[in-house]
This record gives sequence, C-alpha cells and structure tokens, in this order.
Amino acid sequence: MDSLTLTPKAGPPLQHLHSSCPICGGTSLNPLWRVHGYSIVRCAGCALAFVQNILTREELASHYVQGGDPVYSEVNRECLGYYYTKLRGLIEARYARPGRLLDVGCSGGWFLDAMQGWECHGCDIAPPEAGPGQRHGDRFFEGDFDAYPGRDGFFDVITMQDVFDHMPQPLAALAKCHRMLKSGGLLVVKVHNISCLYAKLSGPRFYAVIPPTHLFYYDRNTLSSALSRSGFRVVESRFIAHQLQISTVFMRLSRDNERSAFRHLYKATVGRPLGNIRIRKNLHDVITVLAVKRDSQSWAPSPSSPSWQAAL
Ligand SMILES: [Zn+2]
Repeated sequence: MDSLTLTPKAGPPLQHLHSSCPICGGTSLNPLWRVHGYSIVRCAGCALAFVQNILTREELASHYVQGGDPVYSEVNRECLGYYYTKLRGLIEARYARPGRLLDVGCSGGWFLDAMQGWECHGCDIAPPEAGPGQRHGDRFFEGDFDAYPGRDGFFDVITMQDVFDHMPQPLAALAKCHRMLKSGGLLVVKVHNISCLYAKLSGPRFYAVIPPTHLFYYDRNTLSSALSRSGFRVVESRFIAHQLQISTVFMRLSRDNERSAFRHLYKATVGRPLGNIRIRKNLHDVITVLAVKRDSQSWAPSPSSPSWQAAL
C-alpha cells in the first residue's frame, strides 16, 4: 500500500468524526495535533493516536495515486531486501519447513520474491505497473484487503508491512487475519512508532504523521493492545534496522509537501550518485511485532469494543 501517495489538493471532510476510540471504545479523546487540516486525537483510555475524521472508502481512494512512493519501487529493491532478509530469519526461526504465506499490501511483491521456497500469496490495492501479478499469477489479488477472498485457516503466516497504519478499520483487518490463519499461525505487523524519541522531538512534524495516508499512529503498547483484543498473543517485538537511499531520506522528510525544501533536495538527488548512497537507519521509529493466533477456546472478543461489531 505504500506505493500510494497523497495528492496535495483534496481537503478533509469536516462533518464526520470518531466519537470513540476505534480500538478500546473509550470516549475521552484529547486533541493532539491538526495536520493537513485533519484532527489527530489521543485516546485517554489506551493512548492510541489517530485521525478523528472518518473518511469513506471513496474519500480515501480520492487521495491516492499509483506509484508515488520510491521506497516501494524496483530501484529500491536492494534496500528493501536488507529488511526482508532479517524478517525472513525471524519467521523461519519459528518454522522448520516453509509454509503458506500472505503479504497484505505487497506492492511490487518483492517480499514474496524474498520468501522463495514458501507458497507465497499477496494482495495490494494499487500495485506498481510491473506488478506481482506477472510473477505470482493467481496467487496475487489486486484490490482492497476487505475484498480479499482468503479461506479460513489457510495461511501459516500473514504479514502487514507499512500497511496497518493506513487501514481505517484496524480491528476488522485483524479479525480477518485471525480467521485466515491456521491455529497457532503467525501474524507480522510493521508500523511506525509514534513513541520513539525522534517522534517525540518532532511532534506533528514527524515524517510518518501524514494524514490521511496514515490514519493511526501506533507504538508497542497500542499495537499490542489491538492484537490482544483480536485474539493474538504477541511473542516478539523488534526495532529492525532499515537501509535507505539518501534521496529516500529527503523524500520522507518532505512529508508529501511538494513545496518543502526536502522535496527539492529529493528531486535534485534521486537517481544520482549522491542520492543513491545507502545508509543504515535504526531510530526505533519502525516497530515489527510478531503475534501468534490464540486458540478460540482461550480467547473471546472484547464486548467493550464497539469496533468489534464492524469486524464481524
Ligand atoms: Zn483507546
């Protein structure tokens, strides 16, 4: 899903606001920031930060164009591979033999390529033109995850990398993952960490605060809470280093603003020797959580969460 990017002109809808926290159902919501015209609040109950404006599927779709994020592009494949190698190691530490894997929001399908030996499936709402369908055939589904036709108890592993913070109904997405995983199956969720020092120092200028592209701003605690409410047990939580090109750093710092000085630096360096220099980054600004599907006998959905109804 990170192959999508925000178009600059559309403004936020003003009339529809969340009156309660989509994760814990708490109704005490404190204003945090106003960014790009959107209201970002923090739940007093569980500390989750999120965009209070409720956007319809059509409104969200109108904010996206294809192929805008150079991180998820063929030229950045080797940088992506740096993280994928580490993630494959974490997954295979738990599986003696390769199984069946789904990558939600798989973009160009490079993680599927990196998991060679596994039966790899993927879906993405807007893959790049030379997309995963060419290499993975009918194991790739183009469309919204809501519409993904996965069978219950089918997958050993489901991954959501840089996609969960885009999802307007996070508990519904987790409920779907829970259904599609085998008993004891593994869910991997990678999101930006709003509680890292860099984010705290940057406040609303943190590079990942880009509503409505990112609708939710998680940290280790709020992500763990969402997972445990959805029938998962967190087994591992890691800050894994990433490799980035210098030009990508400028692009991230521009935060979708075409007029930003960083956007000019990005345009001046992309594809050039300076822009192609790779750096290793680990500011604890990205968190990767591994969680295991709990048996249905030991878990029941929380009745306190109003969003759970939408998830069924
Ligand atoms: Zn809450």
